[in-house]
Amino acid sequence: MKNIKDYNLDALKEEMKNIGEKPFRAEQIFKWLYEEKVKSFDEMTNLSFDLREKLKQNYTICNFKILKKLESKDGTKKYLFDILDGNSIETVLMSYHHGYSICVSTQVGCKMGCKFCASTGIGFIRNLSSGEIVEQILAVEQDTGLRISNVVYMGIGEPMDNYDNVVNSIRIINNPKGLNIGARHISVSTSGVVPMIYKLADENIQCTLSISLHATNNEKRSSMMPVNKAYPIEELLQACKDYIAKTNRRVSFEYALAKDNNDNLEDAKELVKLLRGMNCHVNLIPINKIENGAYTKSSNENIIKFRDYLNDHGIVATIRRELGSDIDAACGQLRRKNLKV
Ligand code: SAH
Repeated sequence: MKNIKDYNLDALKEEMKNIGEKPFRAEQIFKWLYEEKVKSFDEMTNLSFDLREKLKQNYTICNFKILKKLESKDGTKKYLFDILDGNSIETVLMSYHHGYSICVSTQVGCKMGCKFCASTGIGFIRNLSSGEIVEQILAVEQDTGLRISNVVYMGIGEPMDNYDNVVNSIRIINNPKGLNIGARHISVSTSGVVPMIYKLADENIQCTLSISLHATNNEKRSSMMPVNKAYPIEELLQACKDYIAKTNRRVSFEYALAKDNNDNLEDAKELVKLLRGMNCHVNLIPINKIENGAYTKSSNENIIKFRDYLNDHGIVATIRRELGSDIDAACGQLRRKNLKV
């Protein structure tokens, strides 16, 4: 059965035509799903009984089950969802002064193999569909009654390795008749799958691109992130420049600081050289400890020195708050779990 949440509005209009219905039914269904946030076709009371029956026979509505919910002392919540096929994924809800932000997963597991990240540890199972990405937001909104204002594609998985579903999910989230979250409030993070960065630049979506950079030379970056062997730093930065030129959007670079690895002033100097003149922002992340992880967190003193060096040399840098680390909900700490094991 097809998941009704996999369709963006235009695609659902087409689908309605294909099943002999008027395209405006798609708008009605969208309203029920994303405004009223109903969990069944039966609740879509302005659709005829026959149409509701037809929908029930042909489509699922994909309501994830909450298996576990952990709350951090800083208010961050981590959800473990049963995604209805024996797998589960994690989604994180964070509270900021500007509203609620949700960190969504895009794959069950991850192929990228970054040495510091728990998401990669237990391998890759499958891509999430667009509807399964959207459902993470809906399920959290339904559970909390909150309205989510920001979405970051920074959970489990590599968004650019599930490109079509990710872009389609953004169209659903962004549509005023869908979840109506502005593109500027949506960030997509990538470990650096260069061809997909060029592709995203051509989609005409005003989302923020975040790049997990983490090192300033190829030797070090390749030792931390195997993807760098396929797409080295020069090619990655060229793709970012193209993205900035085409979208007029500022790119964000994530740089996780690991003690004695990439956190000394020499690294900061190299980073300034690499990024000078680019319309960008650097988000420094104190590296989070993961099981069997090779890296440890830099000292607070080093992190502040690193930030100040960047800021003093014309690169805007901020330190990311470490939300949810007490419940393993912080960057790099999310993992897939197999319910059958
Ligand atoms: N695969 C995408 C999306 C994940 S985003 C990407 O790599 O960008 C999650 C962010 O957290 C990435 O910037 C990732 O590099 C970073 N991260 C992973 N493990 C981390 C850890 N142990 N400590 C801090 N940040 C980490």
